[in-house]
Amino acid sequence: MKNWDAIVVGAGIIGLALALELNKRGLRVLVVEKGEPGREASWAAGGMLCDFPLETQPELRELATASAGMYPEFVSELENESGLKIDLRAVGTLIFVSRKTGHGPGSALPRPLEELEPALRAKDSAGFFVKERCVDPRHLTAAAIAAARHRGVEFSSGEEVLAVEVADGKVCGVRTSRTQFAAGVVVNCAGAWAGQISPHSFPTRPVKGQMLCVDMPEKEMVRHVVRTIGWPQDVYLIPRSDGRMTIGATSEEAGFDKETVSETISKLRQAAMDLVPRLADARVLETWAGLRPGTPDKLPILGATATPGYFVATGHFRDGILLAPVTATVMGQVMAGEKPEFELKAFGAERFPR
Ligand SMILES: Cc1cc2nc3c(=O)[nH]c(=O)nc-3n(C[C@H](O)[C@H](O)[C@H](O)COP(=O)(O)OP(=O)(O)OC[C@H]3O[C@@H](n4cnc5c(N)ncnc54)[C@H](O)[C@@H]3O)c2cc1C
Repeated sequence: MKNWDAIVVGAGIIGLALALELNKRGLRVLVVEKGEPGREASWAAGGMLCDFPLETQPELRELATASAGMYPEFVSELENESGLKIDLRAVGTLIFVSRKTGHGPGSALPRPLEELEPALRAKDSAGFFVKERCVDPRHLTAAAIAAARHRGVEFSSGEEVLAVEVADGKVCGVRTSRTQFAAGVVVNCAGAWAGQISPHSFPTRPVKGQMLCVDMPEKEMVRHVVRTIGWPQDVYLIPRSDGRMTIGATSEEAGFDKETVSETISKLRQAAMDLVPRLADARVLETWAGLRPGTPDKLPILGATATPGYFVATGHFRDGILLAPVTATVMGQVMAGEKPEFELKAFGAERFPR
């Protein structure tokens, strides 16, 4: 049986970023993916790199800020190694809070709204500016896959890992729907499905998000990411440099269902048009739904498991794109037996009763 130093289960952005990190540390890495690499939550995401206190759980703030700071280098390395472009934008985010809701996050708008975003109509709301970046997650995962292949990370796709195999009390590989692969180290990065792989049932669950993408009538018609909080319907708009705009997203407990519902999509579209009336002329290019990997306390699960050689990095819920670089760094440290540079106690798998 062919043998690797480490097997990564799941080729979402978390598994891909970690596979790259392990490869850089000199390990021979195999990524096993049940479908097509990068086609689940990491493909469905908006790509906001949200890093401010009102939206980030206190336990996550340190990791979120560190990861947001790592992004420019993370992206430039992936672009260089893959030869692909990733649309990382640093225009910033405008957040609108209903005047009834009261105070908002961030600082006051640096200039009048009519100058910042002439197409926006945000009546009865207070606007705030946050210095955040955003990224196109599909470009990001495509570049991560290409960079990993370029570096010699191997992939086995269309193959579901059914179990992590244990011999003499420690990990010896994985059993899949087709075969077995051997490695002394395995890491579960299976997103919303992470709890389905024996022997440990991590309490991850899918949280469905529906989204749509439109073609803006004019490129850069909206430049900032725009988010509303406490409106009849919370909505966010993420403009891309090529003239598309992603509009999202719902948050639904719907099991593993990934169907879109036309009424729900219409409501999101209407909420976007209420903010930017000119979007009434925007062609809908695509609608989709994805499954965020949720956990009972909304925090990720990061670190070693009770089985020697078996690690877990999942449950990134709404922030997996943001948290990918820091997750790869700290998990690389943990898996090498080093002290991680951030405290990971709040994220340990042992916090959930088995
Ligand atoms: C609508 C929506 C909007 C979002 N917006 C943002 C945002 O703006 N910013 C942000 O930071 N985050 C956002 N997120 C969250 C982000 O997408 C996730 O946290 C992140 O993608 C999780 O990455 P992952 O690699 O853990 O999971 P995934 O991308 O789901 O990857 C897991 C992979 O594991 C594979 N797998 C599962 N089981 C097995 C098995 N048994 N064997 C082999 N392979 C398996 C799956 O096929 C999948 O490819 C959003 C998510 C959604 C759905």
